[in-house]
Amino acid sequence: MPYVVTELCIKCKYMDCVEVCPVDCFYEGENMLVIHPDECIDCGVCEPECPAEAIVPDTDPKAEPWLELNREYSTNWPNLNRKKPAPADADEYKGMPDKYAKFFSPKPGES
Ligand code: SF4
Ligand code: SF4
Repeated sequence: MPYVVTELCIKCKYMDCVEVCPVDCFYEGENMLVIHPDECIDCGVCEPECPAEAIVPDTDPKAEPWLELNREYSTNWPNLNRKKPAPADADEYKGMPDKYAKFFSPKPGES
């Protein structure tokens, strides 16, 4: 039961999740993070740390549309093992609907 990052992360990237993950299984895209489903040990400590409530267990119905995206991009994007500053405008995008359609970028982050 790995945990999954949903579109609520897009353009927020607070990265509080990265700081607490014991196995460093977050990967960084240009404007969101994903979790590698085979590396996540299902500890769940990242879920309550996310200010955007973007992380859910894969048993949650909200996870389903994002499972494949997490799997695909965690093999393409660089690993992230330290917290970096959030984007200055992150709060403006917190909780906004349909962020995938509006803003998703397949480009890798700069880790
Ligand atoms: S804390 Fe939440 S919004 Fe921030 S990078 Fe992690 S998953 Fe994305
Ligand atoms: S559930 Fe645990 S292992 Fe999985 S991404 Fe979150 S902190 Fe990392």
